[in-house]
Amino acid sequence: PHRSSMYPFLTESNRRDLREQLYTAYVQRGDNDNETDNKEVAARIAKLRAERAQLMGYESHAHFVLEERMLKTPAEVYDLLMQLWKPALERAKVEVADMQAVVDAEGGDFEIAAWDWWQYSEKVRVAKYDLDEAALKPYLSLDNVLNGVFATTNKLWGLTFTEIFDINLYHPDARVWEVKDKDGSHLGIFIGDYFTRSNKRGGAWMSSFRGQSNLDGSQRPIVVNVCNFPAPVGDDPALLSFGNVTTLFHEFGHAMHGILTNVTYGSMAGTSGPRDFTEFPAQILEHWASEPEILKSFATHYQTGEVIPDELIDKLLKASKFNQGFANTEYLAASLLDMDWHTITAEEELKDADAFEEASLTKIGLIGEIAPRYRSTYFSHIFAGGYASGYYSYVHSAVLDSDGFAAFKATGDVFNPELAAKLRMHVYEKGSTEEAMELYKQFRGREAEIDALLKVRGLDGSSD
Ligand SMILES: [Zn+2]
Repeated sequence: PHRSSMYPFLTESNRRDLREQLYTAYVQRGDNDNETDNKEVAARIAKLRAERAQLMGYESHAHFVLEERMLKTPAEVYDLLMQLWKPALERAKVEVADMQAVVDAEGGDFEIAAWDWWQYSEKVRVAKYDLDEAALKPYLSLDNVLNGVFATTNKLWGLTFTEIFDINLYHPDARVWEVKDKDGSHLGIFIGDYFTRSNKRGGAWMSSFRGQSNLDGSQRPIVVNVCNFPAPVGDDPALLSFGNVTTLFHEFGHAMHGILTNVTYGSMAGTSGPRDFTEFPAQILEHWASEPEILKSFATHYQTGEVIPDELIDKLLKASKFNQGFANTEYLAASLLDMDWHTITAEEELKDADAFEEASLTKIGLIGEIAPRYRSTYFSHIFAGGYASGYYSYVHSAVLDSDGFAAFKATGDVFNPELAAKLRMHVYEKGSTEEAMELYKQFRGREAEIDALLKVRGLDGSSD
């Protein structure tokens, strides 16, 4: 089963024995010594990758993969992950204590275990972080949010968006805009296809119908954002959750990367850079969505016209810190496990996957109440997908976006023109024509630091 299908039961069921049974069955997937056991498969994949890397002259698979990434060596990746690990684990321990307090207050005679996390974290959430999503939605109509993201890029770079009505698209839900630069020149075409449909793939993404190139004259891009937001019901407009709003800004960031790009060769345009960098232009735009100043500029009630109240914004921002110890710890444990599997050398014996994983997790001091987000026997990102030695990329991009946005905050102006110009010139326009680290440094003036991310996620000791 998919993990999200187990959460409602783990949250709602009062049968602790059944919660344990379900949770244990989930984390033992591929690890039951039967015909679908993956322990040896995983170990063999890791060993074969090490052998292949050695044949090509690399110390390990991770050395081979990272050569083309923004972080260049396993040592750099471990250094980043371990800097984040300690504060994440400290926060997770506080969360365990918060949940144990609820168990004790209810007279429950047990210690919090991994299968209790969802039920008791929900009780903590309701008590400390309660945010009524339904109260928020009337302020977040799709048109409001689109106006918000258009206004954000207008203030940053002077872009304008003109909706075009006389072009036939592939579906009536899809809308199209011409994007123009500050001087009125044509930059590209943006298509937004936001509502869920029965024949649409799940999730949200950006892709290009036409890329950008200056090789043989100027060819400007045609870019689409596809999402799965709930369609409008009756006469009401489509109303988004704040999670949807963040997704819209995120995908729009990818779209800007695809539209502002200005390079000679099409293969190096737009979003073509390394995986641990290309989420940065998308994720940094999310920060503007949760700035109170910007929220207030677009989040008005669709019936009354009232601007979103400060109290609701405060609750929203506080809620974003909920359960971050858990989320970061499970993610970082999996990232470190990925790195451990891919820094073995060709000479090493075939590993016993369970023993290898246990040693890996014991070394970093993972607590028993949390499992890595994926255990070795079902870690398909790294054993069946493209994320071997790359699962760290998500948090690396997060370090960049938090650090990058902090630069704006530090000037007291989230639209600081000088920084906005640098961000556009060195990040959104450059595609993969230069080393990602150099691009970031040209924008920021230095390499990224983790402090801003710790603050954003409430891992800096400031959360109660
Ligand atoms: Zn993305």
